[in-house]
Amino acid sequence: MIPAAFDYVAPSTVDEAVQALAAAGEDAKVLAGGQSLLPVLRMRLAAPTTLIDLGKITELRGVRDDGDAIVIGAMTTHYDVQRDQLVAEHAALLARATDTVADPQVRHRGTFGGSIAHADPAGDLLAPALALDAEMVIASSSGRRTVPAAEFFQDFFTTVLDPGEILVEVRVPKHTGWKAHYEKFNRVAQAWSMVAVAATVRTDGDTIAEARVALTNMASVPVRATAVEQALVGQFASDDTIRAAAAHAAEGTSPTADGNADVEYRQELAKVLTGRAVSAALAAV
Ligand SMILES: Cc1cc2nc3c(=O)[nH]c(=O)nc-3n(C[C@H](O)[C@H](O)[C@H](O)COP(=O)(O)OP(=O)(O)OC[C@H]3O[C@@H](n4cnc5c(N)ncnc54)[C@H](O)[C@@H]3O)c2cc1C
Repeated sequence: MIPAAFDYVAPSTVDEAVQALAAAGEDAKVLAGGQSLLPVLRMRLAAPTTLIDLGKITELRGVRDDGDAIVIGAMTTHYDVQRDQLVAEHAALLARATDTVADPQVRHRGTFGGSIAHADPAGDLLAPALALDAEMVIASSSGRRTVPAAEFFQDFFTTVLDPGEILVEVRVPKHTGWKAHYEKFNRVAQAWSMVAVAATVRTDGDTIAEARVALTNMASVPVRATAVEQALVGQFASDDTIRAAAAHAAEGTSPTADGNADVEYRQELAKVLTGRAVSAALAAV
């Protein structure tokens, strides 16, 4: 199908973009990599009056070092996140999760910020952002605000972003030296997660000193598996420890049933995948 007619604006700075968004009103939409938005427009599930294309805003691309955090520009593509040295060194969990997103074509066009703003509960970058205590930096014509990942995701495809706001960058606290793994379960390769588990750990000898675990597609928003984390911290890193901790993975979740899996199956998957994710994280080099 062909999208409904819309006006098209391609600003070259964030300031121009937020002014254009304010001028266009509530029916405008931001265009990033277009991997999720363009199919929606073509099916006429959305008919914005104006598209604000962020593609020419170079200040929104790339990863920079900011002391105790790395800062990922919203328009940084999945491909660039996968290959970034700062991400590899300080946020290995994000690199591991990005490896699993779609296929090379989508990873070359789709953006980190677009995935976060789109807030698909099956999206693979939301749970890692939550696990790493990332903060979302949001711009509008009236200034900037910063929202923690734990408050950013509100519901299915819904975030705290207001119509006049743009996600400009994501601050990720450095987790240098942490080991990480993203365990994704899907029916066919390169498909969306049926359930996935993001796990990153810091070890002190054979002891698990710190652990962060978050779940993809186990609720309308990503979920932090705090009971699992608590069961891991301070423990000797053994199969028994991991098995006992993973048994808590479905606590506090509210997955939906669909054509792929019912609720009980997803809850069981969460436990199995959590065990695999933590084991693989501990074994990572
Ligand atoms: C075939 C296919 C397979 C896929 N498989 C996976 C997968 O396995 N795992 C996965 O995680 N993802 C998957 N995706 C989605 C992919 O990761 C997209 O890149 C992502 O969902 C959206 O990013 P985008 O840059 O294309 O955003 P767009 O499609 O341009 O925008 C998506 C939405 O976010 C809004 N938006 C975008 N950027 C901003 C911003 N900076 N500020 C405010 N609002 C913004 C737009 O207005 C729109 O509503 C897949 C996509 C396709 C087409």
